[in-house]
Amino acid sequence: MSSVIRLLPDHVANQIAAGEVVQRPASVVKELLENAVDARATSIKLVVKDAGKTLIQVIDNGKGMNEIDARLCFERHATSKIAAAEDLFQLQTKGFRGEALASIAAIAHVELKTKEKNSELGTHIIIEGSNVISQEVAVVPDGTSFSVKNLFFNIPARRNFLKSDQVELRHVIDEFERVALAHKDIHFVFINNGSEIFHLPISNMRQRIVNVFGGKTNEKLVPVQETTEIVEINGFVAKPEFAKKSRGEQFFFVNNRFIKSGYLHHAVTAAFEGLLRDGTHPSYFLYLNLPPNSIDINIHPTKTEIKFDDEQALYAILRATVKHSLGQFSVAPVLDFQKDMTLEVPYELSGMPSVAPSIQVDTNFNPFEEKKHANNLAGKIGTAIVRSGFNPFESSATHTSTAKSGFSNTSFLEKKQKSAGWETLYEGMSDAKEFILSSHHEIDEEEVTGSLFDEEALAAHTTRQTYQLHKKYIISPIKSGLLIIDQRRAHQRILYDYYIQSFQVKQSASQQLLFPLSLYYSVYEMELLKSIENELIQMGFSFDVLTEEKIVILGTPESISESSVSIVLEDLLNDLQGNIPGETKVLHDRIAKSLAQSLAVKTGTFLSEKEQEDIVNSLFGCENPQTSPFGKTTFVTMKVEDIDKKFM
Ligand code: ADP
Ligand code: MG
Repeated sequence: MSSVIRLLPDHVANQIAAGEVVQRPASVVKELLENAVDARATSIKLVVKDAGKTLIQVIDNGKGMNEIDARLCFERHATSKIAAAEDLFQLQTKGFRGEALASIAAIAHVELKTKEKNSELGTHIIIEGSNVISQEVAVVPDGTSFSVKNLFFNIPARRNFLKSDQVELRHVIDEFERVALAHKDIHFVFINNGSEIFHLPISNMRQRIVNVFGGKTNEKLVPVQETTEIVEINGFVAKPEFAKKSRGEQFFFVNNRFIKSGYLHHAVTAAFEGLLRDGTHPSYFLYLNLPPNSIDINIHPTKTEIKFDDEQALYAILRATVKHSLGQFSVAPVLDFQKDMTLEVPYELSGMPSVAPSIQVDTNFNPFEEKKHANNLAGKIGTAIVRSGFNPFESSATHTSTAKSGFSNTSFLEKKQKSAGWETLYEGMSDAKEFILSSHHEIDEEEVTGSLFDEEALAAHTTRQTYQLHKKYIISPIKSGLLIIDQRRAHQRILYDYYIQSFQVKQSASQQLLFPLSLYYSVYEMELLKSIENELIQMGFSFDVLTEEKIVILGTPESISESSVSIVLEDLLNDLQGNIPGETKVLHDRIAKSLAQSLAVKTGTFLSEKEQEDIVNSLFGCENPQTSPFGKTTFVTMKVEDIDKKFM
């Protein structure tokens, strides 16, 4: 039998390898930028068309290549950066695999122009799908320019797999930002579809971060600095009050290489412990320098993960350093929203001797007494229940009053829940007996006919009566029983419908701000805002200027208070991140969802009776009151029969 194993032709091997190195346009951007950095360029220009699907060009003023190297660089495992295995442990460069250019050339149309500084003439090579189309001597500037066109032209499946331009552009920007943040000593320019979206002059670290993320970033940054035997740490963390809902701005650089590390991330988050609002993530830009032989970059093909020799020590140092910075730059005082107010001595009392606190309990306090309706309800339909000590609303009242008398229904329930077998249901029965007996007794007296609730009482209460349970649910008696509404989800539904409606009109009612509000954004965020300008106006926003990085707001929709504008827009930008749907309806849906999400009352928020009623009434004015815009159940009902059954 003849042998069946054959060596793959180079172009096939390259295509296979390309699958690993080049996943999307952003991968090409990363490789080309890193090559330019390795070539010691001081100025690098990135030009992209159609999010890199049509063109990615990187022009540098680095050391260039001679004629032979220009041809060799497209060979697999051709690299000038390491010569022997030992070099892997002393890496100072980004690249070392010699794989990138071979891979890119296998799946795209590539044009290279390059010249070394002290040569008269340079080289011009065109290579398509690993085939060299032409190579000639040419007059070109110092440095190197790679143009990559028609990515994946010979792998249609991969090309079709690419996401929308907006998503791909976001990935490209991510890669650009990572390289740009790691190399403040290089001048970067990024041009997308003919317009300059980043211009980053050589600067210090803080200025580079500000140039990338916009002017508003400056005030957020707290410097971090520490030098120990095993690591030198520099950089910034953002003050806790600027923590974001998305995990956007989190950067670790190790020896100027962007890396991801769940472990180190945890160390930073631990340093922020107790300082962050729920569900928010700290931003950070941390530069770690370690001896190259104490790290191993080789464990991941796309090289964003690395291994450290002494991970635990690094964790401890990083955590302590960040914590120290947060403390030292007295970040605490601005954290008013977090602070326990009891720790603050009011100005007029400062300096006075302190007295030990004493507790006074008003045993007559009834949280429902002031609420006329509640009283009414109790009086009409619930005398028996209330008088016997059972108060269905007591669990919510425990927050306001600890004064309870008589049989505690909660403890009964607790016992019941804890008990495993049915026999144990009788535990605590001696306590409960009184409750059951008296209830029976009184309900009998009330002559219950058919419905437990008398019709008249209901007519009076159906629309008015609401109670809040655990600052989470709104309870409202209805004819057939009880309505239990999730306050947050219901409010989301109401707001969502409201904003969807506002898109049907030219411009919704707007409230003028007393003073114009200037908000600062990165160039990229401003692009996003500009592309939804019409929608913002329809909702009731009005602007004065929309410049490169600033927006001046004159008016806001009636539903959005001045203090929440910046948060709402920030959330909206996060939710839209890099993906503005082309279809208007989809866009409207996304915006309305985002606003509903940021503006809806939170679980845990106390609602006045009026607010509760508003929510109930508005919810049932919606077309689909049953679900939130995110498809979650907004309310459930509990039928009287079901309640009856529980008492059988
Ligand atoms: P690696 O970066 O891992 O060495 P690449 O395939 O990315 O592999 O590049 C191969 C070689 O081509 C590099 O080692 C370098 O010598 C040369 N090269 C690539 N890009 C440039 C550039 N912009 N300027 C000068 N030389 C370059
Ligand atoms: Mg490389």
